[in-house]
Amino acid sequence: MKQGIHPKYYTDGIVCTTCGTVWKIGSTRPNLRVEICSNCHPFYTGEQRIVDTAGQVDRFMRRLNIAQERQTEREARRAGRQPEKKKSLLKEIYGEEAE
Ligand SMILES: [Zn+2]
Repeated sequence: MKQGIHPKYYTDGIVCTTCGTVWKIGSTRPNLRVEICSNCHPFYTGEQRIVDTAGQVDRFMRRLNIAQERQTEREARRAGRQPEKKKSLLKEIYGEEAE
């Protein structure tokens, strides 16, 4: 091997941050971390679950809650502003088939 041209080779392995498994793989980069591996990925484990390491599900649920609150506020405002529609006098007298 020629000296001085090869990068340093690390053999500590790759660590999965979800399940903590250390995979014995060599690399030219130290302290490699992965969010998911075949030991904990739902495809390999067979269990149905959402892998949420970046908090994206939480973020989505928060945004969904805010959107729903705004929707109910808007509906309440709309309901408060519009007066109840009065039943037409014709309908009141002759029933629904009057028109
Ligand atoms: Zn894992």
